Amino acid sequence: MKILVAVKRVIDYNVKVRVKADQSDVDLSNVKMALNPFCEIAVEEAVRLKEKGVAEEVVVVSIGPKACQEQIRTALALGADRGIHVETDAMPDSLAVAKILNKLVAEEAPQLVILGKQSIDSDNNQTGQMLAALSDMPQGTFASEVKVDGDKVQVTREVDGGLQTLELTLPAIVTTDLRLNEPRYASLPNIMKAKRKPLDVKTPADLGVELASKISVLKVEPPAERSAGIKVASVAELVEKLKNEAKVL
Ligand code: AMP
Repeated sequence: MKILVAVKRVIDYNVKVRVKADQSDVDLSNVKMALNPFCEIAVEEAVRLKEKGVAEEVVVVSIGPKACQEQIRTALALGADRGIHVETDAMPDSLAVAKILNKLVAEEAPQLVILGKQSIDSDNNQTGQMLAALSDMPQGTFASEVKVDGDKVQVTREVDGGLQTLELTLPAIVTTDLRLNEPRYASLPNIMKAKRKPLDVKTPADLGVELASKISVLKVEPPAERSAGIKVASVAELVEKLKNEAKVL
């Protein structure tokens, strides 16, 4: 079985995000970038399936500028076998990403495609679903457990107030939730080995995909600043402030 994993380069989750002065976007200059955490979980799940002997090959794909190759190399150091970089300086929207992934699915014929449930930068939560529609493959989103059994995959999903288990016929699409697994750290020898693993570079045009988007970002605003808290000397003072200043009692 071949598994295709889609990985996105995003701002590292530890970084405090700054908005550009003209509010056109988030400021990415000199900001630490990383593998989207949900994509890291997707790579880990694929590598575990390979280690269990369920999968033979794990292929990772990232779409974006040349620098995305760093995140592909990280995924290779975590245990993926080969990478595909679809290079573009335009920031493709989810539909364009799904169209590119759909073309790669047709070329690579994976039995399982694993994506993160969401990118932590754009918070779209839609690429896996769009790919399912375009490729006509069944989807199990927000997976907290994945079990492959013959030509089926069972996906346990975290839904409001409980868990739902679905059975999908392969080939299928799975998107990862936070509790699916805890990704490993890449060891130094594996980081070195990853440098020699194959990485193919293509363009959206090679795959026959137009990137023109019908969506434009009008404005980006940071959350409102919270005012500083105060210390009170006694419970009586707290009650007095809640009654007369905050007026919540
Ligand atoms: P989103 O729908 O943008 O929240 O992203 C969900 C998932 O789609 C991500 O976790 C990735 O697995 C995949 N994805 C989104 N954008 C890209 C990209 N530019 N390159 C590769 N995978 C992507």
